[in-house]
Amino acid sequence: MDDGTRCVRGGTAPGPHPVGSPVHPGPVLSATFHLGLPHDADSGADFYGRADNPTWRELESAIGDLDGGPCTIFASGMAAIAAVMRSFTGPGRGVLLPSDGYYVSRLVADEDLAPLGIDVRTCATAGDWTAALQHRPAPGLVLLETPSNPGLEVCDIRAIAEAAHAVGALLAVDNTTATPLGQRPLELGADLVVASDTKALAGHGDVLLGHVSAADPVHAERLRAARTRGGAVPGPMETWLALRGLGTLDLRLARQAENARALAVALREHPAVTDVRWPGLADDPAHLLARSQMRRWNGILRFTLPSTHAVGEFLDACELVDSTTSFGSLRTCADRRARWGDAVPEGLVRLSAGCEDTADLVGDVLRALDAVVR
Ligand SMILES: *Cc1c(COP(=O)(O)O)cnc(C)c1O
Repeated sequence: MDDGTRCVRGGTAPGPHPVGSPVHPGPVLSATFHLGLPHDADSGADFYGRADNPTWRELESAIGDLDGGPCTIFASGMAAIAAVMRSFTGPGRGVLLPSDGYYVSRLVADEDLAPLGIDVRTCATAGDWTAALQHRPAPGLVLLETPSNPGLEVCDIRAIAEAAHAVGALLAVDNTTATPLGQRPLELGADLVVASDTKALAGHGDVLLGHVSAADPVHAERLRAARTRGGAVPGPMETWLALRGLGTLDLRLARQAENARALAVALREHPAVTDVRWPGLADDPAHLLARSQMRRWNGILRFTLPSTHAVGEFLDACELVDSTTSFGSLRTCADRRARWGDAVPEGLVRLSAGCEDTADLVGDVLRALDAVVR
């Protein structure tokens, strides 16, 4: 089955379906489940909502099928990433992560791991990971983010997987910007794939959720146990909303990528704009590498305006671009990343193309940019 079918059908049990059974069973909101009596066989069934939940299993089966390995969902992308960092590092097993990726992942390493004596090192996404992996002591875990947020730089998952394994490290890839339809890191040699499903996967800006899929079921089991102990569990309602969102991921990505391409092409021609990056453009510096490991493009691009003031004027003049952080939702939004402390030019804007009509969106953005020039 191809991606669209798997998105629509994912997580649902194959037929035959009992007459009268619901096509859409809805979220199972129970915190606790009937245990039976002491003489009843232990069926391995649900017993308590921090350990497992039938709605979680539906979403985990759908995402795991796309990622290509058993999936464990978490209450947010950061809950998933923190669980990976805590479970697969330790004294003598440090972490190597991107210097230009999602800033909260670096905060977890610096504020939570480093004080425990865990070695924390960084490398730029487009930098020399093989050299960084030669430094002693070798890390226990390498975390990549490709394409990176917000820089949209790309690194070579296959090559870094080989170099990481050569020094005995596990490789995890933050796949948030690509989504499981855009990139399958486990097929490229990664051990773990993590993502914030708050973004395009759930896709409507109304849910916080994250997940980890693992190539090795033993690693998946460790993450599940860590989730039950740590308690960073997703709500069944949020899980169900994400499952519902996943059904249209294929359709949404298609429109978002179409909009991003049209915007990138239009922005490059505008005198107020510099440094437009969208890996899908044939002459983008990351294009060839991205094409060698990505399956399709998405709606996230970046560009730079001359100043903070210019970004303010631009956002004020837009009707169809919300000034919000986060990305991957139905509505187009833009975020000036320096406001969050990212080491980027003050006028750098990450724009997440939504599902509006392309001509409406490009027209609105160009009109707003003309206001900046005036
Ligand atoms: C948003 C984001 C996260 C964090 O996810 P939350 O769901 O907000 O906790 C992690 N990595 C990347 C690349 C992100 O964009």
